[in-house]
Amino acid sequence: MKINRTDDILTSDFMAQPYWWERSPRPNLDVPTLPTSVDVVVVGSGYTGLCAALQVARGGRSTLVLDAEDAGWGCSSRNGGQISTSIKPDYHALARKHGPETAFNIVKEGHNSLAWIKAFVAAEAIECDFLVPGRFHAAHNPREFEILARDIANQPKGLEVPAHVVPRAEQRRTLGTDSYHGGVVMEAHASLDPGRYHQGLLERVLATGATIVPHCPVTALNKTSGGFTVVTSRSTVQARDIIVATNGYTGSLTPWLRRRVIPIGSYIIATEPLAPDVMDRLFPSQKVISDTRKVVYYYRPSPDRTRILFGGRVTSGETDPLRSGAMLRRDLIGIFPELAEVKISHSWMGFVAYTFDELSHIGSHDGLHYAMGYCGSGVAMAGYLGTRVGQQVLGLAEGRTGLVGASFQTRPFYTGTPWFLPASVAYYRWRDGASA
Ligand SMILES: Cc1cc2nc3c(=O)[nH]c(=O)nc-3n(C[C@H](O)[C@H](O)[C@H](O)COP(=O)(O)OP(=O)(O)OC[C@H]3O[C@@H](n4cnc5c(N)ncnc54)[C@H](O)[C@@H]3O)c2cc1C
Repeated sequence: MKINRTDDILTSDFMAQPYWWERSPRPNLDVPTLPTSVDVVVVGSGYTGLCAALQVARGGRSTLVLDAEDAGWGCSSRNGGQISTSIKPDYHALARKHGPETAFNIVKEGHNSLAWIKAFVAAEAIECDFLVPGRFHAAHNPREFEILARDIANQPKGLEVPAHVVPRAEQRRTLGTDSYHGGVVMEAHASLDPGRYHQGLLERVLATGATIVPHCPVTALNKTSGGFTVVTSRSTVQARDIIVATNGYTGSLTPWLRRRVIPIGSYIIATEPLAPDVMDRLFPSQKVISDTRKVVYYYRPSPDRTRILFGGRVTSGETDPLRSGAMLRRDLIGIFPELAEVKISHSWMGFVAYTFDELSHIGSHDGLHYAMGYCGSGVAMAGYLGTRVGQQVLGLAEGRTGLVGASFQTRPFYTGTPWFLPASVAYYRWRDGASA
């Protein structure tokens, strides 16, 4: 969608869609007649759905992937392409809640997901600008810097990761700003081009003979003696197994899951191309960046180092990319004042899925297999758990994960509409600002 506006902050060719879609346009798939019966229907064609489909199809199951929109239309072609170990609560918080063994297993799954994506991209030879440049996690106040430095010095035994502290005095060698108070570099964290990664996955799934059908919302899943009748906008399909891979777009189709995920908007802008010396000054390397704010900023140079891709949760449910784009640009300039005149060429958003315990969940309920709830960190975890849920459908022992120790919770009166979000985001933004 092209926006017809050329005011001060937008380039003349501004697009209200992901920057990644220019290099990887949404796939133009044939829309075949739906089969009447398959072994497995996968609902959702992002990383979770495609990695699950790859497993079951390679395991010999006839597989049909259905998406309400274009293939990969959800978060999987909209994200920042930053790859971390994906588990939000730290080991100590998890140990207090679940005991040390379960906590260890949960954190370990985060490490496993990072190792998995690196090995997977290499084994499948997916060309997606995969790099391991490290991630600079920047402290937005001196207290957070102390906490980061202390945590790096006292990592739980058996869960150590390569990392080093960057004091504020040396920060400009890592990131061209004085607006942080130092930070830590997580050396094994990686990055990729999300659109190219999704395209590579899609090609591999199609190569198995599986069918991917876009613009075909699933509207009901009715249990039968041998599985499910899958009602879609086009026709019905009988399936033995269903994998639900709808994450932040989980809706009324699966009310039990909908009560367990909280859709939260995440937003990104791309700047216009910047001069090489500006890029080199602001981003001396390809490291990706995040910070300690509760309402986090995450950003990076584009894979070709021509522009900055700047993301954050500037609001909770705003869907107008012009409004979110203006907010993100203001915050970008707050970090890099020399960009006061910068224009933005792209602005977009997507809905991530938070959970009440800030953990991802995988399992089955009422016969439906699912993996979701990546809490905004799903580039590795979605594919990793998609693979595991596919293995579960095949009955393979590898499908078991260390996340089984945490039950998938909801809260009384929560039905899937997060009425509490605007107030929470406003409060946390205020708190981040007050503590900066
Ligand atoms: C702006 C943004 C930035 C992000 N940045 C990062 C990052 O830097 N690093 C990171 O690790 N993670 C990041 N994430 C999160 C990450 O992208 C997601 O966790 C991951 O892509 C989830 O993949 P998925 O396949 O589970 O879901 P999605 O890719 O969202 O796919 C779900 C699909 O389900 C389909 N669907 C829903 N209901 C139905 C139905 N009834 N019938 C058929 N289809 C249906 C939707 O159309 C959608 O295509 C970001 C997300 C966003 C939005």
